Amino acid sequence: MSEPLVVIGNGMAAARFADELSKRALGRYAIAVVGEEPRLAYNRVLLSSVLAGEVASSEIELKPQGWWRDRGITLRYGCRATAIDTDARSVMLADGESLAFSKLVFATGSQPIRPALPGMALPGVITFRDINDIWTIWHRAGSGDRVVVIGGGLLGLEAAYGLAKAGARVTVLHLMDRLMERQLDRQAARMLQRAVEAMGIEVILNADTAEISGTSRVEGVTLKDGRTIEADAVVVAIGIRPSADLARAAGIAVKRGIVIDDALETNVAGIHAIGECAEHRGVCYGLVEPAHEQARVLAARLSGRDARYAGSVLSTNLKVSGVNVFSAGDFLGAEGTEEIVLSDPGIGLYKKLVIADGRLVGAVLFGDTADGLWYFDLIRSGADIETMRDDLAFGRALAERTQPAPTRLAA
Ligand SMILES: Cc1cc2nc3c(=O)[nH]c(=O)nc-3n(C[C@H](O)[C@H](O)[C@H](O)COP(=O)(O)OP(=O)(O)OC[C@H]3O[C@@H](n4cnc5c(N)ncnc54)[C@H](O)[C@@H]3O)c2cc1C
Repeated sequence: MSEPLVVIGNGMAAARFADELSKRALGRYAIAVVGEEPRLAYNRVLLSSVLAGEVASSEIELKPQGWWRDRGITLRYGCRATAIDTDARSVMLADGESLAFSKLVFATGSQPIRPALPGMALPGVITFRDINDIWTIWHRAGSGDRVVVIGGGLLGLEAAYGLAKAGARVTVLHLMDRLMERQLDRQAARMLQRAVEAMGIEVILNADTAEISGTSRVEGVTLKDGRTIEADAVVVAIGIRPSADLARAAGIAVKRGIVIDDALETNVAGIHAIGECAEHRGVCYGLVEPAHEQARVLAARLSGRDARYAGSVLSTNLKVSGVNVFSAGDFLGAEGTEEIVLSDPGIGLYKKLVIADGRLVGAVLFGDTADGLWYFDLIRSGADIETMRDDLAFGRALAERTQPAPTRLAA
């Protein structure tokens, strides 16, 4: 008899987990996936491209209906899980049904942070997380409309780009003194700002929002310094919060996210968490690659292997056409690290590589990001880069051509 396994959430982590588990242990579990969104799992990363009109929403589905059916996976989408009974080992659903489980996997993702500002409930204030948000943005912020995007991080900039492409007049408000400060150093952020402004998007830094104003709908955003920016719509993209309330209510340990160990297990045996809802060694990841790594490791474990998850190195790619930005690892550099910098602001090129103990530990690329994944692999593998160090900044083609090491030693 197959063991009943319930996955809560039908997002990117859940889809990857179902894929990996069915490859490794088809038939061992009777898998049910419960998802609140009323559709099949889709590639959320591509929502920015959908907003920008570069990809159709019909093209981002991760797996067709038949794929799930062929693997015997029961899909309950458009249905929220409302409670867990960890003793009875059952999940209650919004439609009144319940599902028994032997193993349970939380893959509930995150929610956009909604700041406690006056005016947040006004019509025209929109977040940017799922397909419904895209419909709302299209409905509220069309050509010629004035749109304020609160947040100059990856999501905010991708939203701003999509809106500007659709003809909206966009202003980005960012609390910090540079854009994407969590991924970029000062120089790359300056170049990014210039590129964004060249698209007609206004950027206001050090912008601390006091309130969103309006009577029956959004009319503007007022900053703490007294400035007001007129707006027909406001997109709030200031960050995410792991969706962990369901786990917390069930008595499962939650800090910022659902706390898991290296076996991706919570404090309750047989109950796991993967993706953005999870907190591993104090870290909640907000990117898809860690979610995929966790899904792979958990599937391996549940198919009987002793796999462990030790954390992920992060890389970021901004999806704004014509603006190539890549960042990975410890891009700021800590005490004792060295930097190789290649910069030509005239042609919009900047590369910073951070090295520690003969290994690449971080990289920021602006302009030419073609070698981003190669640098990322070097960071993740911890490979010794000393023999190619002279050419490292010039990219893979040159750095690998000047190998092997013995020639260099002889010289
Ligand atoms: C616009 C946008 C652009 C992005 N771009 C990038 C990028 O370029 N690179 C990158 O690495 N990452 C990017 N991300 C982040 C990436 O999409 C996430 O890291 C990834 O989706 C996380 O997968 P997940 O399965 O943990 O969460 P999700 O994909 O959010 O899935 C969670 C699912 O669980 C459902 N759920 C929650 N609670 C319940 C419940 N109680 N019952 C049933 N279902 C529930 C939710 O409705 C949701 O469908 C982007 C995100 C957005 C919004």
